[in-house]
Amino acid sequence: MPEYVIPPAAIAALPIAGSNALFPVRRIFCVGRNYAEHAIEMGSDPTREPPFYFTKPADAVVIGGADMPYPTVTKSLHHEMELVVAIGTGGTNISIEDALKHVWGYCCGLDMTRRDIQNEAKKTGRPWDMGKGFDLSAPMGPLVPANGFDPSKGRIELKVDGRVTQTSDLAKLIWSVPEVIANLSQLVALAPGDLIMTGTPEGVAAVVRGDVLEGMVEGVGEVRTTIV
Ligand code: MN
Repeated sequence: MPEYVIPPAAIAALPIAGSNALFPVRRIFCVGRNYAEHAIEMGSDPTREPPFYFTKPADAVVIGGADMPYPTVTKSLHHEMELVVAIGTGGTNISIEDALKHVWGYCCGLDMTRRDIQNEAKKTGRPWDMGKGFDLSAPMGPLVPANGFDPSKGRIELKVDGRVTQTSDLAKLIWSVPEVIANLSQLVALAPGDLIMTGTPEGVAAVVRGDVLEGMVEGVGEVRTTIV
């Protein structure tokens, strides 16, 4: 064991449904504009341009239904309900055909976004990091082992205070889960522990303190948090 000059950070981890074991999180990659109706609501053309990515730090995860503090320096915190893919076996230049063999499991996640900061960054051509990759910006539900789960279809939905705000189907992903894994593995060497947030459907909106967010993906499970 090396001797560190300061204590090393704790390993961020996701709980696993029905188990006491944890899934250690290495990196969080997020796909932008991966549902046509969301691309349109964001003012973009939903034609099938190659997928693009941004990241969040591993310790942005909020687990166990814990509260999410309303972040600093924003007046427009938006919810984005997403299917999250957890990589169990890494690789580069993974083929679309082999992609799902690299998946350990799936969970539900919220790509919480400082929309005002992101919009300003888009306008000025600056990075999205402070709009997307801020502290505690990724509430996630328990991870479910893949067990042959087919991510090509299934209802995805988010309720805010019991009212449905986002509802769609994984079949509407512009870039499917295997295509995203294959494409991303050309850009970086995917590694065990990497998470991929696959994009959000239409219906994104601002939340305020006190809002209870409850998301689900059919066959995967749920995510829940309260904004405080
Ligand atoms: Mn997103």
